[in-house]
Amino acid sequence: MDSPSPSSPAPALSSNARPLIVGPPTPAAPYPIFVHGQVTKGFGRGGKQLGIPTANLPEAAVSQALSHIPIGVYFGWAQVLAGDHCVRPMVMSLGWNPYFKNEKRSGEVHIIHEFKDDFYGAEIRVAILGFVRAERDYESLELLVEDIRVDIEAAKVSLRREPYWRIKDDQFFISSCEKKAEN
Ligand code: ADP
Ligand code: MG
Repeated sequence: MDSPSPSSPAPALSSNARPLIVGPPTPAAPYPIFVHGQVTKGFGRGGKQLGIPTANLPEAAVSQALSHIPIGVYFGWAQVLAGDHCVRPMVMSLGWNPYFKNEKRSGEVHIIHEFKDDFYGAEIRVAILGFVRAERDYESLELLVEDIRVDIEAAKVSLRREPYWRIKDDQFFISSCEKKAEN
């Protein structure tokens, strides 16, 4: 195995040896991709029970804004226009929507935060900044959850880079909680 050179430190690795730093040093085309819409109800197939609830983007928003990027897991920022309006790290799964007989895509956003209440029907604003990994099949729910935990770590670590971090303050987001605190 090659030893890392001092000038280019090896990326942080997870326990299953997946790089936690994903994407180039600066978001590159087609990112950032901005998408917004009202949180819709999904099948409630266990996201919450697994500790990983996902806010479903409306079908129209997905088909308009996300038709040109591959199925898989993405990272970025999300804001819910309910409660404190804070902009928070998120991981998004772009997959096939069983409700539309897998002919349309579904975009499901897990915001990396513990919310006290659900926010169905509220507006969600999402900035997608990069690709984490392709979709996979899992032998068990435990392995799926383990992989999503790694995605969440990858999102947090990858967003810490300044060119990614500053998109939190983009005008796309509506006066976030930090901006409010400054006023
Ligand atoms: P559904 O199938 O209806 O999407 P989930 O079990 O995936 O059901 O739960 C999603 C809902 O949980 C969201 O629509 C939102 O109202 C709520 N929720 C609570 N915390 C979060 C979070 N951290 N990220 C995303 N959604 C959350
Ligand atoms: Mg969901």
